[in-house]
Amino acid sequence: MNLSARLSSRMLEGFCSRFVVEPTGCWIYQGTLSGDGYGVLHFGAHGEESRTSTTAIRVAYELWRGPIPEGFEPDHICSCRPCICPDHLELVTRSENMLRARERNRMALVCWRGHFLTPKNTRIQSGWRVCRTCRPEVVRRAA
Ligand SMILES: [Zn+2]
Ligand SMILES: [Zn+2]
Repeated sequence: MNLSARLSSRMLEGFCSRFVVEPTGCWIYQGTLSGDGYGVLHFGAHGEESRTSTTAIRVAYELWRGPIPEGFEPDHICSCRPCICPDHLELVTRSENMLRARERNRMALVCWRGHFLTPKNTRIQSGWRVCRTCRPEVVRRAA
């Protein structure tokens, strides 16, 4: 489904004015960010049956580059999660994206917020290195 076709002109206007261009060339999305730092957009009103959400990079790609074929998703070549610059996006298959994400995660020196991923600040969660500063361990209280 072409998601950008579902954007109303008001949403589109909002989307196109909701980023800041960094000196690095990245277009930093200023709207809602997911917990992982990716821009997200919601379609439809709260509580509506057809309410759905998508990533800002999907919308950006469709708007400025073209339709996304089935089975593909945009991936950052700049590794900057809130970036929606169409020139910083390329299409990869889902499995390829996962593979790259794993590799980047394994090699990363800092988390996406810029905290150093020292052994002390890193914990492993289902095979991924997670920043302790961003994702503190949930301490379960004994009932
Ligand atoms: Zn970028
Ligand atoms: Zn962090």
